[in-house]
Amino acid sequence: MHRTPGTPKPHPTPHPKPDPLHLPRFDGRTAVVTGAARGIGQAIARGFAAGGAHVVIADLDAGAAASAAGEIAAEGGHSSFLGVDVTDSAQVASLVRHAVAAGGSLDILVNNAAITTTRIVEETDEAVWRKVLDVNLTGAFLCAKAALPVMRAQRYGKIVNIASVAAKRISFNAGASYTASKAGLVAFTRHLAYEAAPDGINVNAVCPGPVQTPMLAAVADEETLRTRSRSIPRGRLSTPEDQAGAVLYLASDHASMVCGQALDVDGGALLGWYDPE
Ligand code: NAD
Repeated sequence: MHRTPGTPKPHPTPHPKPDPLHLPRFDGRTAVVTGAARGIGQAIARGFAAGGAHVVIADLDAGAAASAAGEIAAEGGHSSFLGVDVTDSAQVASLVRHAVAAGGSLDILVNNAAITTTRIVEETDEAVWRKVLDVNLTGAFLCAKAALPVMRAQRYGKIVNIASVAAKRISFNAGASYTASKAGLVAFTRHLAYEAAPDGINVNAVCPGPVQTPMLAAVADEETLRTRSRSIPRGRLSTPEDQAGAVLYLASDHASMVCGQALDVDGGALLGWYDPE
C-alpha cells in the first residue's frame, strides 16, 4: 500500500479540548521532575500539578525553575523548586529530602534532565562524551538510587525515565554520545524495573520522537524540522504535552502492571522510514 503522510484532515465533529479532570489523578502524591524548568519536563510538571500532585521542579537553572514553579502556583497547582545538578550526588540527596519535606512523601520520579551534542564520533571530545553520559545516564542512576529507599519504605513508587527513539535506532539530530546514553537509559530502566517491582515500584521509560522544544531548536533548523515532520506517519512533530500524556499514564495507577517498558511516543516514526523526497 502506498500512502503519503501529510497534515491530517480536520475531523467533521470538532474535538473537545482535553479536560484536565480527565487526566489521571495524583492527589496527595509528590512528584519530582528533573530538568522541568522548560520543554518536556515543564509540560510533565504541569500535568502532575493539574492532577493534584505536589510537584518539585528540579533543574540546573534555578531561576527558570523558580519561574516554572511560579506559573504552576498561579494556575492553582502545588509546586516547589530546587536548583539541582543531577550529576552531583549530594545535591540529589538534598532534592529527595526537599521533596519529602515539601510534599510529605516521594511517590514519582521523572528522570527528564538531559543534554545533547551533534558532533560525529571523531570530532567528539572525550570530556563531552563523558559529560553527556554523566547527565543523561548517571544522573538518572543517582536520582533513582536516592529516591529508592523512600519508595521501598512506602512500598510504592513510580519512576519514569525519558529516553528517546535514538535508543532504538540512531538519532538524526544528535551525536553517538546521546544515542548511547539513551540506549543505556532504556537498559537501566529494564534492569531497575526487575529489581524494584517486588516493592511496589514501577519503572518505565518513554521514548520521544522529535519534540518542539528549545533542545530540538538548538540542533535543527526550520527546514530540517519541516522535512522531518513530513517523514513522521502522524504528520507532525510532537508537542511537550504529547509526551506528558504518556508519562502521566506510566506514573499513574492505571499502569500498575506495566514494568520495564520503553514506550515510543513518536507519531509512528519508528514504524518505518518514509522519504518525503
Ligand atoms: P530542554 O533542553 O528543552 O530541557 C532540558 C532541561 O534539563 C533544561 O531546563 C536544563 O536546564 C535541564 N538540565 C540540563 N542539565 C541538567 C543537569 N545536569 N541537572 C539538572 N537539570 C539539567 O530538553 P527537552 O527537549 O525538553 O528534553 C527533555 C527530555 O526529552 C530529555 O531527556 C531529552 O533527551 C528527551 N528527548 C527530547 C527530544 C526532543 O526532540 N526535544 C526527543 C527525544 C528525547
